[in-house]
Amino acid sequence: MPTGSTQLYYQRDRLVSDVPGYSAGVQIKGGPYLALSATELAVYFPEDVALHYDLEGRLTKIAELNQYYRRGLSGRVLWTRKTATGIERKIVPPDKMIHRARRLIASVKLDKIETAKPDRETALGRIAGVLEKAQAFNHERDALRFREIYRDVAILPPDVYTALVLQATQGCSYDKCLFCELYRNVRFQARKPEEFRAHVAAVRQFMGAALPTRRTLFLGEANALVQRQADLVEVFHIVRENFGNLPVTSFLDAFTGWRRTVEQWRELRQCGLRRVYIGMETGDAKLLEWLQKPSTPASVARTVENLKEAGIAVGVIVLIGAGGQQFALSHVRETVALLNRLPVGKGDYIYFSPLVIYPNGRYCQAMYCNGVNSLSPPQMREQERSIREGLRFDARRGRPYLARYELEQFVY
Ligand code: SF4
Repeated sequence: MPTGSTQLYYQRDRLVSDVPGYSAGVQIKGGPYLALSATELAVYFPEDVALHYDLEGRLTKIAELNQYYRRGLSGRVLWTRKTATGIERKIVPPDKMIHRARRLIASVKLDKIETAKPDRETALGRIAGVLEKAQAFNHERDALRFREIYRDVAILPPDVYTALVLQATQGCSYDKCLFCELYRNVRFQARKPEEFRAHVAAVRQFMGAALPTRRTLFLGEANALVQRQADLVEVFHIVRENFGNLPVTSFLDAFTGWRRTVEQWRELRQCGLRRVYIGMETGDAKLLEWLQKPSTPASVARTVENLKEAGIAVGVIVLIGAGGQQFALSHVRETVALLNRLPVGKGDYIYFSPLVIYPNGRYCQAMYCNGVNSLSPPQMREQERSIREGLRFDARRGRPYLARYELEQFVY
């Protein structure tokens, strides 16, 4: 019985002939099975290890029975392991993954083919070029190219982890929220149209053959939608010119978003904007103030109402653990009250993002200065549970999707 991702597709001594979505397969005698799909080349070794490459030959994953390493476009690596009690995840140095993959992929030779699908010639014609790229893949060079184009991609909402990021702006236009260290020391900058066009061209070139696998766009960074309407429309035109009708998503903070009218949002919807993620954090006005976030429950409500009226879906993000013990009761009560006021429904998201306290970060300093005690992990879980339990959704609108949003498990 298959027990892991490797064995799902590879069974020793037998060509897996009908893996859904794969266009070519080659079984090497006594060696690995190579399978090509519309998104990747997967190489399944007899020792129950699978390597995954995108169509540009870029290493994306090493999978074993109970653990896997996922390499993002940035070159950062997330290690995930199944344990008896759950799932363990952490960002790890890439060296181990890279060396192992290099050694394994270098051993693959297409000369002793046992079986092939759909036939030997077709399979080789489809697989050989991608394999060659995978064998020549240079992690360091690729990661450096990424940095030249993006500098960094700090975070994305979980449902768009695989979106293609286009950075119309860099950094955050505010950058003073106590709890947020994501864009600290990055000078906010909106790219001029010609700069954005050049950025888009560089992204397209970097993605190469893997470009068609990205079916959603994310307009970054922190609050790209803060720009003037006319400038934004121009940004969306450039996006359209390059990516046609692919859906566009983006972050927004309510203290900037509430001013935009329904008509303006409609115009952006026509340009391709399909979902906006709003860092609501809490429904407690006093806690927002303590967090130094200049939005209010009213500005969050107005922003969501306007977006929904314009036909744009939302993702609302709640900060679990914000304000620690001191704000725990009011955070739950007011967050439930605000979420229940929002016109969210089927197709929208509500994310619960556990607070990350960075040593030496501003939140940490404010905690000590103001005598605020943080919540323990079980208390955070309890807080999330209490908020979820208090939510009531209008049956006519349907139920939004509720999920966790972990900042520390992100690689782009
Ligand atoms: S939470 Fe949003 S507005 Fe606040 S500093 Fe971070 S990115 Fe900027």
